[in-house]
Amino acid sequence: EESYDEECDYLFKAVLIGDSAVGKSNLLSRFSRDEFRLDSKPTIGVDFAYRSVRVADKTIKAQIWDTAGQERFRAITSSYYRGALGALLIYDITRRTTFENIKKWLSELRGFSNPDTVVIVLVGNKSDLRQSREVEEEEGQSLAESEGLYFLETSALENQNVEEAFLSMIGRIHEVLT
Ligand code: GDP
Ligand code: MG
Repeated sequence: EESYDEECDYLFKAVLIGDSAVGKSNLLSRFSRDEFRLDSKPTIGVDFAYRSVRVADKTIKAQIWDTAGQERFRAITSSYYRGALGALLIYDITRRTTFENIKKWLSELRGFSNPDTVVIVLVGNKSDLRQSREVEEEEGQSLAESEGLYFLETSALENQNVEEAFLSMIGRIHEVLT
């Protein structure tokens, strides 16, 4: 039976963090609306987007927060992180500095969320730009292992691993909640 039903079994908040222009907004628009933009419009960011997914017979609605460009000034406030059960921690595989800054984002995230339960997926985005790669996949993997994170390389442009990145976070949060 087909029926419109807004009810869900779980609703939770997750956040996107990482340096400016790593692809946060495009990963979210790819996941929530299957859209990608070549131009970057950092100041016209939405606050958040929703997507419902079915996990183990339950409907989980994820409210995923995106920045409106505050990360450029390292001015993300505690309210952005408050109550977040999960995070995608994103760098750009073609810009080494964005990978080096991951540790700063990680300590900020752990400071403002519940560090014992927050589910964190490390994401190396722009995997389509193979010729410009500055961070090897093994480096991302090894950082993730030492920090106890999940890890994936993605391409918002080619729609590679985007579903997997969000769904691995959502699935893990579901396990933490149940
Ligand atoms: P944000 O500042 O982290 O939200 O980054 P944006 O989503 O605005 O993306 C910054 C720029 O990178 C834009 O020009 C995007 O088109 C581009 N971009 C984002 N994701 C990818 C990707 O997977 N591959 C490529 N080649 N470009 C991307
Ligand atoms: Mg953005």
